[in-house]
Amino acid sequence: MASTAKKSSGSAALFHGHNPFLESVNAYFDKAAAIMGHPKGLLDQIRACNSVYYMQFPVRIKGGIQVIQAWRAEHSHHKLPTKGGIRYALSVDQEEVQALAALMTYKCAVVDVPFGGGKGGIRIDPKAYTVEELERITRRYTVELIKKNFIGPSVDVPAPDYGTGPREMAWIADTYQAMAKDDINALGCVTGKPVGQGGVRGRTAATGRGLYFAVREAVNDATLMKKLKMTTGLSDKKVIVQGFGNVGYHAAKFLMETGATIVGIIEWDGAVVNPKGIDVDALNVHRNKKGSITGFAGAKTIKDGNSVLEHDCDILVPAALESQIHKGNAGKIKAKIIAEGANGPITSEAEPILLKKGVLVMPDMYVNAGGVVVSYFEWLKNLSHVRFGRMDKRFDEGANTRIISTVEQLTGKTLTAAERAVVARGADEEDLVNSGLEDTMIASYHTIMEHYYGNPKVKDMRTAAFISSIDKIAQSYLSLGIFP
Ligand code: GLU
Repeated sequence: MASTAKKSSGSAALFHGHNPFLESVNAYFDKAAAIMGHPKGLLDQIRACNSVYYMQFPVRIKGGIQVIQAWRAEHSHHKLPTKGGIRYALSVDQEEVQALAALMTYKCAVVDVPFGGGKGGIRIDPKAYTVEELERITRRYTVELIKKNFIGPSVDVPAPDYGTGPREMAWIADTYQAMAKDDINALGCVTGKPVGQGGVRGRTAATGRGLYFAVREAVNDATLMKKLKMTTGLSDKKVIVQGFGNVGYHAAKFLMETGATIVGIIEWDGAVVNPKGIDVDALNVHRNKKGSITGFAGAKTIKDGNSVLEHDCDILVPAALESQIHKGNAGKIKAKIIAEGANGPITSEAEPILLKKGVLVMPDMYVNAGGVVVSYFEWLKNLSHVRFGRMDKRFDEGANTRIISTVEQLTGKTLTAAERAVVARGADEEDLVNSGLEDTMIASYHTIMEHYYGNPKVKDMRTAAFISSIDKIAQSYLSLGIFP
């Protein structure tokens, strides 16, 4: 049965010892905090994980009973609900969940999403279970969260993460709705749902799309490119992506479609490389058919996938798991820009090695924030009970048509029916979601870069992002008047 432990951070009993990921997140925080003027107590409060729920529950698996271990961490309650994905992996433990929850707090603040950070995890290899078993595990986990008030549209709102997707979110929403049947906002208890179950169009591609916007801003920043001795624009850029899941696939696809050359894709069972460029869509078709990217006819397969991290490229996108670039391989990385698609792919020991080499590290809390930005839009949609664009699409089309007609009358020139349809078109849900995402990624880039360029003590983009984030969280606490 479930055992609970809703404790503040520092409770030794549930810690398993040295965890490089959690240590890295805290080391990055401390590095930024050291050059900020906030009182120590305030910084300690921002850094601390507010609550963790550790549970063990029985699930009927293949005729027997298996005891499943799971966690949910709510890192910061400075804004509610808390928000963050749920991961299914054998690597899940309390420290990992806490590290990921902390990153969610900083991520939400950096992109002005009004949530605290949270994260959940179930220690299972999802590939080892049938769909029915995964459904039982997910539904039982949801019930455990409900029992302890660790889920709800105004409390804590999970989303997909490594090993989970819209299907799991649908099970969570359905379980929550069944138990909170009088809550009209129940669908807002989780994001990343299928569109037919309260999801929002554009959520699946959002993290990869957001990564693309982030990289596009950086390569169009002439000052930055001059510093890196690179040309502006994406068209001459060679890119290697680690991870061909939801984030890696969409990031590679959007970068390819805007002119970058994808020279390598790395997966857990090998990599594919082609200096002339990999057709990401064709690779996706191959992977869906064969279950692996290896053996793809449009590229050369390399067995030792992670060795490709060290291949020649301009931009490296680690979009798999944490701690992939460590002190053992950091010195051999050739990329000039690393855009962190995954959470925590570079250890705090590796980062100084990269920075010394002049590599621009674009931090996870900004680069992969597109997912939570669009989760925020989904949550807003669920609370407002209306699809974005439903009220104004046709009105806008009418207004645009009237403008076109007036211009046609004044100029004597007329548009073809096809041209008229393009110009007059009103925005639908996906247009609005993508527009909101693009605006957020651009605005956040410039806020971060104000710290990067404007503060002589700031030498790297991660520290700039942390300062931007910590400052915003500090403001929420300072406005309460509890810190001097
Ligand atoms: N798991 C994603 C992340 O790490 C998404 C979180 C969310 O949408 O709440 O950012």
